[in-house]
Amino acid sequence: EPVKNSAVIPTESTSDSNKSTSTQKPKVQKPFVLIGGGTASYAAAKAIKEKDPLANVIIIAEEAQAPYMRPPLSKELWFSEDPKVTQTLVFKDWQGHERETIYQDASLYEVLQDAAGSDTPSEKVKLLLNKRVVKLNIDTHTVTLDDGSEIYYNKVLLATGGSPKKFPGVQDANVTTFRSIEDFKLLDSKAKEGAHIAVVGGGFLGSELAVALAHREGNIKVTQVFPEEGNMANVFPTYLTKWTTSKVRDLGVDVKSNKSIKSINSGKDGKVVLDLGDEKLSVDHVVVAIGLEPRVDLARQAGLEIDEKRAGVVVNAELEARSDVFAAGDVVSFHDVQLGRRRIEHHDHAVLSGRHAGENMIGGSKPFTHQSMFWSDLGPEIGYEAVGLVDSQLSTVSVWAKATSKDTPAVGAGSEAESPRTAALGSDAPISAAPVSPIQVDLKDEKFGKGLVFYVRDQKIVGLLLFNVFGKVQEARDIINAGYTSDKIDGLLKQFDLHSE
Ligand code: FAD
Ligand code: NAD
Ligand code: NAD
Repeated sequence: EPVKNSAVIPTESTSDSNKSTSTQKPKVQKPFVLIGGGTASYAAAKAIKEKDPLANVIIIAEEAQAPYMRPPLSKELWFSEDPKVTQTLVFKDWQGHERETIYQDASLYEVLQDAAGSDTPSEKVKLLLNKRVVKLNIDTHTVTLDDGSEIYYNKVLLATGGSPKKFPGVQDANVTTFRSIEDFKLLDSKAKEGAHIAVVGGGFLGSELAVALAHREGNIKVTQVFPEEGNMANVFPTYLTKWTTSKVRDLGVDVKSNKSIKSINSGKDGKVVLDLGDEKLSVDHVVVAIGLEPRVDLARQAGLEIDEKRAGVVVNAELEARSDVFAAGDVVSFHDVQLGRRRIEHHDHAVLSGRHAGENMIGGSKPFTHQSMFWSDLGPEIGYEAVGLVDSQLSTVSVWAKATSKDTPAVGAGSEAESPRTAALGSDAPISAAPVSPIQVDLKDEKFGKGLVFYVRDQKIVGLLLFNVFGKVQEARDIINAGYTSDKIDGLLKQFDLHSE
């Protein structure tokens, strides 16, 4: 039954709200409306409540779940030994600590059923689930919900994340995308004894899911298909892509690289047939992981500026798109003072930008200067973290160490775009400053046990990938923020202790 609830408009003017909240105690609590129930909204809600526990914060979420983190959905949850994991959603992090996927139980929010209650005070964050915002009305300071009701905002946050890209025209119940807890539950139900699952896409999601599925008990066959040369080819230098692909194969994934999908059709007995041009694959289920489409529709329709190149909502340094309208997380196109305009699809960025937007919504006016990190794990052997621009189109300088045995210098072989160098990592020997001619990498050995990849643009270090090197994110951040030129790399290596265990 749709609820018609006309917005309650506070009588005070909205523009002076930040100065007045503490002194005037308005009768009607001015709502901070957070659109989207993901990590960015959750971080913003926490930040606002930290500054003012009585602030009227409303998270509007299309999903049925209270806000949760997505990273374990393609990693830790698949490695859980608990047969009830799809219900508990509890996972162990790499340190063995138990953690919850859902940030906090719905009971800790004031759960609203509809727009009514949006203007009453509460010490809890309000949570309106199963509702989609269909319109952002800048002139009236309201949002319209899919039930037709409106909620007045004092400040609003666009934290709508994105939708997984799809193959147009493909409609088969056994071809799905993967983003939510519901998607995890569904794929879990498909990954049963003897199933053949195809994962399309060689980026973060496709690679993590392929490895996770291959780890599953029950004789599950996993085929991964993508157009690039190897796993993570858009991020890693070529030699590292090749090495990683060989590792992913060792973990049981049948990787079909350099293959594009010609068509996806429903076959007999519920099978799905993938046409790869030179071969046809008949599988039980297909997971499509071919990138994200940021959800900028509300912003576009409201006339906000869209960064068409990066498909994000343009904001100023304070993460504001227009007066009282903020954006954070996957959907925001922001200006990074070190690296220029960016849009980032990673968890830590959602946390940092969400929190920062929240702080500015409740009265701050600080520029967003946090340098976020991201991580990915491909099974137990491969884990990496990164800061800044990590794009395989950039030049790279890599330094590798074997985790064991003698410190044989390792160097990448590869394209012109890379400038691999040899590093002698025994004792305190400095690395050779002169570029060394690339040697062929033997993919069978463990040369890429751990190492660093520096990404360079216009002689400046713009990105740093820490491959099986952990606990050094702050050092990486400091390097990016300092804007070092690439000739400083030798001197920067000391702090990474690559030669120690
Ligand atoms: P989202 O988490 O997408 O949240 C947006 C929410 O808004 C959604 O719940 C959506 O339903 C809702 N919404 C959208 N429009 C509306 C509307 N109009 N009305 C109401 N609600 C709306 N990053 C890492 O750094 N490391 C990882 O290991 C990692 N693993 C990942 C694993 C998976 C399986 C996935 C899918 C992503 C992973 N990421 C990882 C990326 C990370 O999860 C995202 O960057 C992060 O979720 C972005 O947060 P967000 O709040 O911007 O958007
Ligand atoms: P992605 O952008 O990382 O990778 C997209 C991949 O899709 C490409 O590598 C390519 O192989 C493939 N692709 C594109 N067009 C294709 C086509 N026509 N046919 C076949 N393959 C095609 O995106 P994703 O891997 O789909 O991840 C989805 C989202 O989830 C992203 O925002 C990502 O950042 C996020 N995510 C992040 C992590 C992490 O940070 N560790 C983990 C999982 C998911
Ligand atoms: P960090 O020093 O910035 O610490 C980040 C904090 O995140 C740690 O205190 C840790 O307790 C916590 N954490 C651990 N696992 C987590 C998870 N899955 N999701 C969210 N938080 C988690 O950086 P770090 O210690 O280098 O770790 C950063 C990330 O890298 C972790 O989140 C973890 O997933 C990943 N990692 C993986 C491995 C591995 O062996 N594959 C090892 C270390 C770290």
